[in-house]
Amino acid sequence: MNGYTHIVIGGLSAAIPIAISIAEKKLAFDISAQHAYYPLIGMLPALAGSLGPDIDLPNSKGGKAVRLFLKSSITFFGIASLGLAVYLCFIDNLIHPVNVLFPVLTVFVLLCLIRLLLPIAKHRRGTHSGLALLIIMLPILYIIGYMPDTTLTDVLFSIWVGFCIGWISHLLADTFNRKGVPWFYPLDKRHYHIANIVTGSKRERAFRNVCIVVFSAVYLAILLLA
Ligand SMILES: [Zn+2]
Repeated sequence: MNGYTHIVIGGLSAAIPIAISIAEKKLAFDISAQHAYYPLIGMLPALAGSLGPDIDLPNSKGGKAVRLFLKSSITFFGIASLGLAVYLCFIDNLIHPVNVLFPVLTVFVLLCLIRLLLPIAKHRRGTHSGLALLIIMLPILYIIGYMPDTTLTDVLFSIWVGFCIGWISHLLADTFNRKGVPWFYPLDKRHYHIANIVTGSKRERAFRNVCIVVFSAVYLAILLLA
């Protein structure tokens, strides 16, 4: 599927928790005793995540967009880590570094790791596999298990969950594509698909429109049943 279709489906997917939050009249969902997901914060990362698996195509719209997103995020979190370290060392010794510096530094290291792994990826291989999805989702368990109970952690948690929602939506959408998705790579190198939609074809446009209608019906059902 092309980048536009992925962005649309990623956005539609991330809007489901937003619809639930509107129906339940609350801004966040409790994921564990300490951590909450804010669906509004997760929306933008979901759009980035929806292009994520195509990062292995350096010349595709998605590949370029995600590389730019990664580069700017690494710069932002790098400068933020450095600034926070200086602030905590020389200006403020009341805030415990583990509450502020630790989460920001963790995201910085994770983003750098993803950037380093990029050249290894080949299209529809590594980044489109279920294995890559599991690796991408690992930080969620890490945040729930080890990160301190702060608002900053909830914000980072929401960013990462949103990114994963987008990533999953990409793999599901590509499963309708003729090329399919190697869900079990590297154990099984076959590409699985449940439809034969060709990228950039009229059928892809129709598929996108059907998704918009189906998701809209889901939002409506959520709002009416609440
Ligand atoms: Zn793809």
